[in-house]
Amino acid sequence: MKADRYRFDGTHPCALRALPCNGKQDDLDKEKILARTAANLEEMAKLQDAFYADGREGLIVVLQALDAAGKDSIVKHVMGGLNPQGVRVTSFKQPNGEELSHDYLWRMHKALPPRGSIAIFNRSYYEDVLVVQLHDLYKGYKMAPRTLEQDKKAFFEKRYRQIRHYEEYLYDNSYRVVKIFLHLSREEQRERFLARIENPAKNWKFSLSDVTERAHFDEYLDLYEKVINATATPESPWYALPADQKWYTRYLVSEILLDALGRCCHEYPRLAPSALAELKDCRDRLKAED
Ligand code: ATP
Ligand code: MG
Repeated sequence: MKADRYRFDGTHPCALRALPCNGKQDDLDKEKILARTAANLEEMAKLQDAFYADGREGLIVVLQALDAAGKDSIVKHVMGGLNPQGVRVTSFKQPNGEELSHDYLWRMHKALPPRGSIAIFNRSYYEDVLVVQLHDLYKGYKMAPRTLEQDKKAFFEKRYRQIRHYEEYLYDNSYRVVKIFLHLSREEQRERFLARIENPAKNWKFSLSDVTERAHFDEYLDLYEKVINATATPESPWYALPADQKWYTRYLVSEILLDALGRCCHEYPRLAPSALAELKDCRDRLKAED
């Protein structure tokens, strides 16, 4: 699949600046891509039905990106084709007081889906090694000095390890985690911010902090690269997808979801002979009514 070229599973390094933010290199025909996306969405809905009925595995899709990269649009246009009964979307904002008084995985764990369901994490525990690292937020946490008084590098190396272990724990407990980074160019981010300012229907999407965070664009890119390389594994891969053309990003995400659902258990449960006999009996009784 086209998304494979953007897949990182720890077997080769991810160099974000060498990766494209648009699909020019992928020789695209927009009409064909739109048609394939629509076909993928239909296929996804079918697979999700079986995945839900099967109920032996859960799927967690982590969406990470800089502002205006299109996380919300992915949730709306790609996940929107799924049966809402089996999907749970959680947006992780700045942690509140109760969340901050717990470990950083606490709120994630609460948002885990039951097996047979899909959780979309719109931002995630990865913020705890991204924004928290970039702005030294952890230094203000109410935590024991022994946990904070260590070298910054060591602090975050430990967190990378904890995240790898957490994802391994989830995998061993019948969940799959797929992580998607929407790789937006600096120029396209500027265009999208301007559109949010100039179009009254988009004003609400803009916040002043978007511009202050933009000043750290390059630092974020470096950090994302580090984080992706530290946490990409074959069981919980990262995808660093070009995000400048929303229609192409949506297509790639639909491919990734289809692939992930295909890897999960998705067989309709087979009934035991005694249950089948009961079904036959019920059918005979219903038929006898006419
Ligand atoms: P939108 O596209 O609507 O702007 P968003 O995901 O950026 O979506 P916002 O409410 O604008 O939502 O921002 C959420 C903010 O919360 C982000 O700046 C993110 O970095 C921050 N955040 C998330 N998790 C944490 C965390 N653990 N610690 C500190 N900040 C966090
Ligand atoms: Mg925002």
